Amino acid sequence: MKTPFVTKAQLDRLIAEFPTPFHLYDEKGIREKARAVNQAFSWNPGFKEYFAVKATPTPAILKILKEENCGVDCASEIELLMSHKLGFEAEDIMFSSNDTPAQEFKYARKLNATINLDAYEHVAFLAKVTSIPETISCRYNPGGVFSLGTDIMDNPEESKFGMTKAQLIQAFKDLKKLGVKKFGIHSFLASNTVTNDYYPALAKELFELAVEVVAETQVDLDFINLSGGIGVNYQPDQVANDIAKIGEGVRLAYEEVLTPNNLGNVKIFTELGRFMLAPHGHLITQVLHKKQTYRDYIGVDASAVNLMRPAMYGAYHHISVAGKETADETETYDVVGSLCENNDKFAKQRTLPTIEVGDTLIIHDTGAHGFSMGYQYNAKLRSAEILLQEDGTPRLIRRAEKPEDYFATITGFDF
Ligand SMILES: *Cc1c(COP(=O)(O)O)cnc(C)c1O
Repeated sequence: MKTPFVTKAQLDRLIAEFPTPFHLYDEKGIREKARAVNQAFSWNPGFKEYFAVKATPTPAILKILKEENCGVDCASEIELLMSHKLGFEAEDIMFSSNDTPAQEFKYARKLNATINLDAYEHVAFLAKVTSIPETISCRYNPGGVFSLGTDIMDNPEESKFGMTKAQLIQAFKDLKKLGVKKFGIHSFLASNTVTNDYYPALAKELFELAVEVVAETQVDLDFINLSGGIGVNYQPDQVANDIAKIGEGVRLAYEEVLTPNNLGNVKIFTELGRFMLAPHGHLITQVLHKKQTYRDYIGVDASAVNLMRPAMYGAYHHISVAGKETADETETYDVVGSLCENNDKFAKQRTLPTIEVGDTLIIHDTGAHGFSMGYQYNAKLRSAEILLQEDGTPRLIRRAEKPEDYFATITGFDF
């Protein structure tokens, strides 16, 4: 079962104040999650979670994570700029980008963010366009398929990210000659894993790689970055990942592989996005219309511009009907938005409590890759974001777009 973090009474008050649709975030849940992650890795003195900004690039949220001792993982110049403006210091900023423009490397160097190089070819590019830092990380791609037991998790061979082992070793040698003092290894092999085994398996593979790479290059290995990929239980019958178990699994691999090889001081970093935020966001939308043709449709005031995952990946997002959690009457619906695209469906043939026009729907697990993947197709405007604070009161943390925002980039031209 999935339970919303707001009650019907709270939602009624919110909707009276803020027009739907909007994204709602749970401050208490976010803080508890950050503390659980930090606790799970507290065995590693240098541990740091660098929140993947792309998941939820919302300043008020990033500020909360900063207060919980998280850093940020940025992938573009504007994510770097926002993090800088929010007061994240150099050592709190990871820059894991790919196909990186020269200007973005220059800006990352200016902020002294930790650069995570995606490609062997970027060693020479970085040296050419800016300067070589004292600390640098390289992103590893082992190729082949990544599996856990008999489950194929992902296909690194087809992934555009990272470098081969031979390239990583050569990159470390080249960078050492160019003056780098401290090194990191990064890898992201599977996305949205709903198992406690992914991180420990990834860690073991990276730890074994680290031993080999250090033996070959004699570099000072400062950190290993396990990146993102810990997923969430979008489906109600899935069991949520247990970060304490995951942290313990990584600790066991660390003590088995790194400690006996004189690498017992290596820091562990993570760049979680989805796991940190997805369950702590809801998309709140109201029912505008019912329609009956070959199927029963529920038309809501949100659309794929507010949450792209169902349209883009066919992703499941659980839906609760506020106040009808225990209703006996159910019907089977397609829950749709108003875009002129038939993929604009939040749910297909979903059994839900019987819905009436005016009902409020809660779309679950939208706190990561939700608002941030939004767009403006059909000249739809981006929604507001609201933080449900720890004391239960709401705070507007991003206003909804206005027509002026949509027209801002074409104002002043002579048509
Ligand atoms: C997207 C991304 C993440 C976050 O991934 P999640 O699956 O949201 O945890 C972390 N690191 C990098 C480099 C990414 O591109």
